[in-house]
Amino acid sequence: MGATDTRRARQSDSAASLTNRQLAAELRALARSSHVTLRRIGRSAGRNDPLWELRVGRGETNVHLVTQLHGDEPAGTEAILALVREMVSNPEANRDLLSRLTLTVVPRANPDGAMFARDEDDDGTEERVTRRENTQQWRERDSRHEPDYHTADGPPGYDLNRDFDPTAETPDADGSSQTRAPSEWTRYDEDGETRWRHDRTYRGYTLRGCGLELAPETAAVADSYRRANPDVAIAHHHKSVEAEGRGSETSSLLSVMAPFGPSYLERAPAYEPDEPPETIVNPFIDAETSRRSLRLNSFVAHQLSSVGGFGRVTRYGYEPLWGSYLDALSPRTNAAGMLYEVAGQSDERDSIDYARKVAVSRAAFRRTLEALASDPDLGTVDENRYFDLPVESGGPTNR
Ligand SMILES: [Zn+2]
Repeated sequence: MGATDTRRARQSDSAASLTNRQLAAELRALARSSHVTLRRIGRSAGRNDPLWELRVGRGETNVHLVTQLHGDEPAGTEAILALVREMVSNPEANRDLLSRLTLTVVPRANPDGAMFARDEDDDGTEERVTRRENTQQWRERDSRHEPDYHTADGPPGYDLNRDFDPTAETPDADGSSQTRAPSEWTRYDEDGETRWRHDRTYRGYTLRGCGLELAPETAAVADSYRRANPDVAIAHHHKSVEAEGRGSETSSLLSVMAPFGPSYLERAPAYEPDEPPETIVNPFIDAETSRRSLRLNSFVAHQLSSVGGFGRVTRYGYEPLWGSYLDALSPRTNAAGMLYEVAGQSDERDSIDYARKVAVSRAAFRRTLEALASDPDLGTVDENRYFDLPVESGGPTNR
């Protein structure tokens, strides 16, 4: 696709999506309901804008859900807001959800990226174009080297979904500092520039590309997660507009992905008998949690595939991404993990409009929550059916 098309599509998403101020107003309106509590859990690195946590319902099953870790992926934020609005404006019809689940949402984890603006067309005024990263300088005192998930391309910033640290232990009761596994740095060259990948050695495994939790947004999401102590962890993304090979014939409106551990090692797309398991699956996800994760993703994907208008739902081939929300956090509480990616493809041919992305995401969220409310373990679902879902053709996820 041409750069101009990409730009046009991004502008249409960003023009359609709420500003941070509008989002705050929407959240405050929801918080008037007795079913909802709203908390500010931090502030963004660049704009000092609030980070929010919304808690809905008082049920036994705890679900933690994060949207828009990437600032240019706004549909999940508005989808979960719309769903919560439905739930609290008609609590009778949504009684099962409200009484059986406690839903903790961090909507728009990256307010800086969501509002990112620059003079794209040289007309002397800035346009809100949004972007993936937050806006934050790397400083010498932050880490031994500048990690490769920090970009200095344009205003500097972090990819927040590479900044989580799977080795950060829960703080002591007195709130004293967290312990971290030892850091190692690997130097490599990319396009003639020196880059540094950050790895950690942890419980006998080498975790390549581990986050450092240097962004305040990442730390706030991780804190929210620890407090919620969830049974299920859900992340929402758009499919990358930069990925190659996504054609309209082969890619889907929605993809899911279940993180899993060594008990399903041989089913992993990257399986090689001689490779270390931590490069193929997440060794900290136990068999039972893996099973719940596969069941949940499979059940929801198959259900959505049979509903008119969605087409087939695909899965991303899973491999661990150590700085990501799901791989870093979900093993800590044995949470079943679920990733959604809604089509963000932006050339003229297969682009879908923003309202449709929101509608697809909202329907997916509702199906998931209903499934969890009716049976949190999904005991009747065969987890192996997950592997029957077609693998997304667009290559590895850029989640
Ligand atoms: Zn993303």
